[in-house]
Amino acid sequence: MAAVIKKVLSIILRLLALAATLVDIVVMAALVAFYGKSGDLGNARKAFDKMPDRSIVAWNSMISGYEQNGEAREVFDSMNERNVVAWTAMISGYGMNGYAHQAVELFDEMRRRGPCPNSITFVAVLSACAHAGLVKEAYSFIIEEVPKEPAAAIWTAMLGACKMHKNLDLGVQVAEQLLNVEPENPGHYVMLSNIYALAGRMDRVEMVRNVMIQKCLKKQVGYSTIEVDHKTYLFSMGDKSHPETNEIYRYLDELMSRCREAGYAAVPESVLHELEEEEREFALRYHSEKLAIAFGLLKMSHEAPIRIIKNLRMCEDCHWAIKYISVVANREIIVRDKLRFHHFKDGSCSCLDYW
Ligand SMILES: [Zn+2]
Ligand SMILES: [Zn+2]
Repeated sequence: MAAVIKKVLSIILRLLALAATLVDIVVMAALVAFYGKSGDLGNARKAFDKMPDRSIVAWNSMISGYEQNGEAREVFDSMNERNVVAWTAMISGYGMNGYAHQAVELFDEMRRRGPCPNSITFVAVLSACAHAGLVKEAYSFIIEEVPKEPAAAIWTAMLGACKMHKNLDLGVQVAEQLLNVEPENPGHYVMLSNIYALAGRMDRVEMVRNVMIQKCLKKQVGYSTIEVDHKTYLFSMGDKSHPETNEIYRYLDELMSRCREAGYAAVPESVLHELEEEEREFALRYHSEKLAIAFGLLKMSHEAPIRIIKNLRMCEDCHWAIKYISVVANREIIVRDKLRFHHFKDGSCSCLDYW
């Protein structure tokens, strides 16, 4: 008995020690951010140096503190411990502040004499390039080097950049790379056919569709879940199984008409998702995430953010529509789709349309 009590006590003590370390990290990161924002860089650096484990958040706070107060690169250069997180934070710092060329230069330097870039570094440099329209440059220096895992996430970010800058020729090449990495993923074929459609290559759209049929690849059925009052509700496209279906559809229609008044129009290429002709118009309007959001808005208190989990990648139209919904319903909406979190607030999304 005594031995058991002793073991339990030792586990409790270890947990308390771990909790104290975590609290330390959180408090220190907050201190770094506080000192950095108030211009007290000496104390920001002291708090930063004392941190036992520096997260990317702490690096970002430290670097943006220096950026707001004039010089960041010197500090980065003077730091002894420059791991992959530090390099990535500096590259993304340049990117977010519109210094795409500097981001690319630093990435180049990292490849020559820094640690091996990881997938987050690739996404950071790609985003920097994409914002500045340097899509070709990004493609030229990543093509050989993209790590095998998780290459799909990197190519998808690149594809987002191509679409945003209407660089459709490159978009086709990138989508083809995506297919090389994951040849059996039906979602990539859909993306490739969408990019062909945007480029006006309807013959190719048809070809991709035929390849999918030959390979017996079917688009997975999309569904979204939402938790309301400790209960999880699941919605599929055009779902009418919920007891309050009529109310949900009526509310969603009303919501979308308010979105249209605010400037929303359906995104045409989303209509090219792999669906039968007669399903398309209906499908776009009643995708599962839209139904789940309407249900959440109807049922949850006004302050609570709406949280949705979707099993597939969100389509362009839903992404566009949810931005408007966040404005007309004045609500934060968080969607975790197959690739990432999307945090919609005041008409924009945290992914900045790269996903
Ligand atoms: Zn959708
Ligand atoms: Zn997003």
